[in-house]
Amino acid sequence: MKKLVFLFAAAFVPMVLCAQGLAIATRGQSAMCSIVRPANATPSQIYAAGEFQKFTEQMTGVKLPILTDDAPLTGPAVLVGDTRYTAQLLGAPCDVGALGKDGFRLKTCQDHLLILGGPLRGTLYGVYEVLERFGGCRWYASWHSVIPKRDTFAVPALDETQRPAFALREPFWYDMFNGDLAARNKANGNAMRLEERHGGKIRFGGGLFCHTFNPLCPPEEFFASHPEYFSEIDGKRVKEHTQLCLTNPEVLKIVTARVLERIRKDPSAKLFSVSQNDWHNCCTCPACKAVDDREESHAGTLIQFVNQVAEAVEKEFPEVWIETLAYQYTRKPPKTIRPRRNVVPRLCTIECDFSRPLDGNAFGQNLKFVEDIRGWSAMTDKLFIWDYTTDFRGYITPFPNVLALQGNVRFFRDNRVVGLFEQGAYQGRHGDFAELKAWLLAKWLWNPDLPAEPLLNDFFAGYYGAAAPLVRRYFDEVHTFYNDPEKKPLRIFDDVKNLVIPGDFYDRAATLWQQAEAAVKDSPAHLYNVRMGGIPVLFARLSRAPRQEAVKVWVTAEPGRYAVSPETRGLAAELLARFAEAKDIRISESEEHHDATLAQWKALANPPPLPAPQARAIVEDTLLSLGNRGTWGDTAADPLAEDGSAMKLTNTHYEWCTTLPFRQVAFDSGKKYRLRMRVRVEKEPGKEGEAFWSGVYDSKNKKGYGGCERATSVVGDGYAWYDVAEWVPEEAHYFWIGPGRFDKKGGAASAIKALYIDKLEISRAE
Ligand SMILES: [Zn+2]
Repeated sequence: MKKLVFLFAAAFVPMVLCAQGLAIATRGQSAMCSIVRPANATPSQIYAAGEFQKFTEQMTGVKLPILTDDAPLTGPAVLVGDTRYTAQLLGAPCDVGALGKDGFRLKTCQDHLLILGGPLRGTLYGVYEVLERFGGCRWYASWHSVIPKRDTFAVPALDETQRPAFALREPFWYDMFNGDLAARNKANGNAMRLEERHGGKIRFGGGLFCHTFNPLCPPEEFFASHPEYFSEIDGKRVKEHTQLCLTNPEVLKIVTARVLERIRKDPSAKLFSVSQNDWHNCCTCPACKAVDDREESHAGTLIQFVNQVAEAVEKEFPEVWIETLAYQYTRKPPKTIRPRRNVVPRLCTIECDFSRPLDGNAFGQNLKFVEDIRGWSAMTDKLFIWDYTTDFRGYITPFPNVLALQGNVRFFRDNRVVGLFEQGAYQGRHGDFAELKAWLLAKWLWNPDLPAEPLLNDFFAGYYGAAAPLVRRYFDEVHTFYNDPEKKPLRIFDDVKNLVIPGDFYDRAATLWQQAEAAVKDSPAHLYNVRMGGIPVLFARLSRAPRQEAVKVWVTAEPGRYAVSPETRGLAAELLARFAEAKDIRISESEEHHDATLAQWKALANPPPLPAPQARAIVEDTLLSLGNRGTWGDTAADPLAEDGSAMKLTNTHYEWCTTLPFRQVAFDSGKKYRLRMRVRVEKEPGKEGEAFWSGVYDSKNKKGYGGCERATSVVGDGYAWYDVAEWVPEEAHYFWIGPGRFDKKGGAASAIKALYIDKLEISRAE
């Protein structure tokens, strides 16, 4: 074998051809070179050779033959992977191991192109790099690629090596879960459907991805017999929304055993998460508190605990890493405890502003985050980040964060982050610039220094076609409004109604998107992208249109004032039409909110007939809002109530928990109304004190109207009507009621057993 290669090498013309580059295929001519892969190639290298062949043929019409390196090299070739010709051609062996799992080297040599990468993903990524950069192939979305028709596909003289900025690259956006799309954009994260042919991925195993305390040590299984395994809060162990007592040795034994069990069942995975549940409530028992006080962070007990699990795991699985979250109450790094070498802290940016890059940003939470990441970065070489890149209350809410993305990725790279998870709209397509954001993130997770402007031009032209300049104008302007993070931060649960983007901008934007549609009316693929891209503006305009809240109660002489305007009906109908066109689109992270919003659009597009005018309304208890339902009270059957149902409030609190917001009431503005209520009090025998308190509150001007409070000594046992207020209502007003106040100090208790609300009556007072 060696001899053969040697003979070949002697025949090569050195260097001259290199400077001119190589022609790979020319339309209308027979194949001028072959694709050669190792005879013992891995599945991803075999696939890589096939991808090169497929896209070269799509570009030029020329199908290159695929050969293996067990035959002599008989002419110009694209050598895919580390073939047995490598050393001879390069004059030295190529240490592909040094390229890591994902890196590659591209080298033209005489009349060959070498695409050298490791057996896992590097070779495949090298192939995509060549196709993308020199062929002009683009994979913007699973449904939208651009494979240009070319007369010639050629590469210039090349000698370059690329390695990714981050070992784990996860643009966690719905469409990027498509394995082909992810691989073509060099993403290798856990959620991507990457198969063996793609070289697999960096995978969390055993079902342990995040928020794993409850799955590993379930309160349902242990709380009854061992409440001490769970969080102690205000001196009491809690079962609901609990965390683990991280200084309890039995908890450590249980979690360690269960983690090991899961690794044994899934030994090919590299990462397993031992991490807090998705809420607060960490344990404050004396032992936990002592550690956390000393460490000046709740990450103290967490890292101490995870370190011990990881130490036990390492004995059996030295290659496995144990990941944990540095999230909310554990975000601040511990003072002295250090994560072990097989522990991966994943720091989360949930509190931050995303209108501008995280550093050099005056928003208070960003300043703290920068301090925290520096702390973590100094104590581990395995720092991961969980970053947030969409609005989770509305994936289709305009969320102008694109110009911050690159700065953030660079900031993470500069702080020695090795794994970057960029959470976006992961439950559906077509969030605000979803496909652009996912694609850009994939590019920057590989190389954070790729300049933004060429990437933006590339995507807009390829994805929106002739509409690109119009969409770009919208994109540029929507990114101008968030320019003061300290006062007006852009955060990931912002309500579309509260964005600082002005209404007149949306009016202009609507025109731009209409023009964009017209520009691509003859190009169905681009038209689809434009129509989906325009959804956030429709959503913002609909949400700002007047009278969107569902009106529950009608006390008006002019119901027509509450008719849904033709504009609102049109916007709702248009959104519904686009949702019907879209595949797998999702409004928000919460499924309940998604369903409720769709139902609201349907009602707005096709509103029910308006009720007749009326000057008096009865409001049954079921129309009232209740805070903390189940804890502070609930709807209860009550034979004494006129309709057999009442809102029952418990005596454990005296919050204003039951309300009727007047934005849910149709009333005549500027007119005086009277509000009364039918309630009864179940008294605590032998006790005297307050029975209830209620009133009307103006949340805008922080001011009350009317009010009704009674002592137990003056209320009877049955239902009675009580006057609450006579006033001129406004939308920002709300009726409220709570059980009577009591002094909580010294274990004092309420003077009542319960308070029942049967109904309210609202009537015109003049
Ligand atoms: Zn504890």
